[in-house]
Amino acid sequence: MGEFGLIGRYFQRAVLQQAGDPAAVALGIGDDAALLEPAPGCQWVISTDSLVQGVHFPEQYCPTDLAYRALAVAVSDLAAMGARPLGFTLALTLPTADEAWLGAFSDGLAQCAVDHRISLIGGDTTRGPLNIGISVHGEVARGRALRRSGARPGDLLCVGGPLGDAAAGLALVLDQPLPAPLDEASRDYLLARFWRPRAQCELGQALQGLASAAMDISDGLLQDAGHLARASGVALHIQGADLPSAPALRHWPARQQLDWMLRGGDDYVLLFSLPVAALAQLGDWPITVIGRVEAGQGVWLDGQPIAGDGGYQHFKESADG
Ligand code: ADP
Ligand code: MG
Repeated sequence: MGEFGLIGRYFQRAVLQQAGDPAAVALGIGDDAALLEPAPGCQWVISTDSLVQGVHFPEQYCPTDLAYRALAVAVSDLAAMGARPLGFTLALTLPTADEAWLGAFSDGLAQCAVDHRISLIGGDTTRGPLNIGISVHGEVARGRALRRSGARPGDLLCVGGPLGDAAAGLALVLDQPLPAPLDEASRDYLLARFWRPRAQCELGQALQGLASAAMDISDGLLQDAGHLARASGVALHIQGADLPSAPALRHWPARQQLDWMLRGGDDYVLLFSLPVAALAQLGDWPITVIGRVEAGQGVWLDGQPIAGDGGYQHFKESADG
């Protein structure tokens, strides 16, 4: 099967091309480029992510999960901006055109595309070491995008869901020793939180006009909070006891739970600041207040300043680098 047969069979599928709002895609796969149709009065929202084996995902993976995760991670950046997903492109580099692998990958991609209502509109297919590049496109009403820079002293600091799940899920993927036996339901839940994160697009859109700043947590709460603090020119004070965790995490000792909630990456829940008066308007959303925005700088945990970035960084040579 050649490149074009492969594209036609695994990527030009109706389920992938029509996963999102059909009105948003004027021209999809098949020409030299795609045409998108944003709603009048909207701004374009664009983000790109690459996934490299051994860096962004472990060697032990299932192609269906891998595809789901690759797309969800990319869409999460749209959620963080308060955008509505429209379409995505896929730059896929593969060592071989293994049909079983491609079928499984295409299925996971389709599941994620449908879950997030985003259509595959184009891409590129090349041979080489496995690499997945995804660009996502969305729209947001002009001037309504959520940014990292608007947090103000007095605002509440909130997260959109439990923390630490994906780090625990990764420990399971890597077969790390368990402190206590884990029931099947907890195992399934944590693995799904690592392999099948749900980008919080609906929450992001609901936060428009309410949140003063927002971002998604991909590299761990402390590190990402550091970015938000810097962009906004404020200090973020977090209460460790207020961090939300799922019941499945409680199989691990408290210290491990806290470390994963603070430093584990890959949860893809939203982190945002909210004027106190706006909290009541989000009554139906399962959000958690984890701290406060204050004048100053940096991230503080239970009154103590956090040194360094406290999360994952590429190109970082040593702990003090
Ligand atoms: P070109 O050579 O003009 O860049 P290609 O031959 O690479 O175009 O691709 C042909 C069509 O197939 C284009 O519409 C392109 O967007 C689409 N395409 C190629 N690879 C993928 C892929 N992995 N997923 C989705 N669409 C793809
Ligand atoms: Mg061309």
